[in-house]
Amino acid sequence: MIRTRFAPSPTGYMHIGNLRTALYEFLIAKSQGGSFILRIEDTDQERFVEGATDVIYKTLEMAKMPHDEGPDVGGDYGPYIQSERKNDYLKYALELVDKGEAYYCFCTKERLDSLKNENGNETIVKYDRHCLSLSKEEIEENLKNNVPYVIRQKIKDGKTTFHDEVYGDITVDNSELEDQILIKSDGYPTYNFANVIDDHLMNITHVVRGAEYLSSTPKYNLLYEAFGWDIPVYVHLPAVMKDKHNKLSKRNGDASFQDLIEKGYLPDAIVNYIALLGWSPSVNQEIFTMDELIKIFDIKGLSKSPAIFDIEKLTWMNGEYIKKMDFDEFFSWVEPELKSAITRTDIDLKKVATYVKTRIGTSKDIANMVSFIDNLPEYSTELYIHKKMKTTEEMSLNNLKEILPVLESIEENNWNNETLYSKMVEKIQSMEIKNGQMLWPVRTALSGEPTSPCGASELAELLGKADTLNRINKGIELLSK
Ligand code: GLU
Repeated sequence: MIRTRFAPSPTGYMHIGNLRTALYEFLIAKSQGGSFILRIEDTDQERFVEGATDVIYKTLEMAKMPHDEGPDVGGDYGPYIQSERKNDYLKYALELVDKGEAYYCFCTKERLDSLKNENGNETIVKYDRHCLSLSKEEIEENLKNNVPYVIRQKIKDGKTTFHDEVYGDITVDNSELEDQILIKSDGYPTYNFANVIDDHLMNITHVVRGAEYLSSTPKYNLLYEAFGWDIPVYVHLPAVMKDKHNKLSKRNGDASFQDLIEKGYLPDAIVNYIALLGWSPSVNQEIFTMDELIKIFDIKGLSKSPAIFDIEKLTWMNGEYIKKMDFDEFFSWVEPELKSAITRTDIDLKKVATYVKTRIGTSKDIANMVSFIDNLPEYSTELYIHKKMKTTEEMSLNNLKEILPVLESIEENNWNNETLYSKMVEKIQSMEIKNGQMLWPVRTALSGEPTSPCGASELAELLGKADTLNRINKGIELLSK
């Protein structure tokens, strides 16, 4: 059975690239009836961030990617927490020491730093294997005296070849690999060690992760070999890019799931969009439900070229999801936006919601779109000129003057879209003009904007009789200047 795992480090932040990794892991497992496991990789105690695990749960919950199995937390599954499994790792590291595949290293930080300085290069410096040659007695003496130590992997000579589902066959010369630390001086395993042990113990069949781990994979394979364990299927994913040259980073302000939610995107649309960020379905379709994705997902569609995160495409897709959304759900989602943009209490917010629903890309588009309701903006009379409708300022002035008494004559209790529309059309017909020649000036006078979420009669209904007449008068006044 296929088993995948999502293994985020709790950084308090869910990068879109990470969420995409989780999604592919989820889809690989679910498309084959397999299991998707959540493992929190928190062994880097220096990077501990309060509340960060909650961000991970919350995101997976909103993204509708529930994990299978895990420790029981009150009838529910908790995730596996790496730091709670501390002792296991040491046991496995000691097994490697016994086998001659790993060794104790007592080098001090000063000594390691001096290696860097000698090398004159701060970043790339391989450990010089100083402690590999310690005698058994020296090691025992150090351990007895509680000299702090780490355990390092002993990389053997030769070449390592492995297959990746996305990148193909990769071969590296082991001389390029460092004797990496497996257990740190605080007793915690490094990510590099813990991921191998955990993936094996959890029977993970497919390891899916960012391509930045590709270069470490040979070291992991040497560990699997040293233990005599099966090597999982590897699926490394290219980075999500902001543009051709830059990765999508925290600094962009829209690199995380949370950023996007705050900017008015829907979880389902985000998930749909990121599914296509580096994966091509076998059908010509862009909008997929999670169930459809599960049905159709195939590793073969994954691409090794970096995917560029296109916020406009996401906004388009979000708009499609908004259009399809159940109205009540939509209304409760946007009610706070509407309430803060419209403080007038005589406005039917549900009506406004109906009008904006088909016109927005994100819920944050609403405020701008409806601000004219509270306050008619200062506008230029040029707005009355509409080429297609063949309107001019002069004609608009005339038509507004013509429609004013018609509107005045409509009783308050008849002030609704249908009546307003039919009365206006009646007038239009009697004047023998085109609909737009009347409706455009009215719409403009009522909104003071080049576009509005609904037409003239709907606007009039929304604003109410008194305000409608006021705004028409204001238009007449402006056009008369
Ligand atoms: N904790 C690692 C990360 O967040 C996981 C990498 C992996 O999936 O193996 O990048």
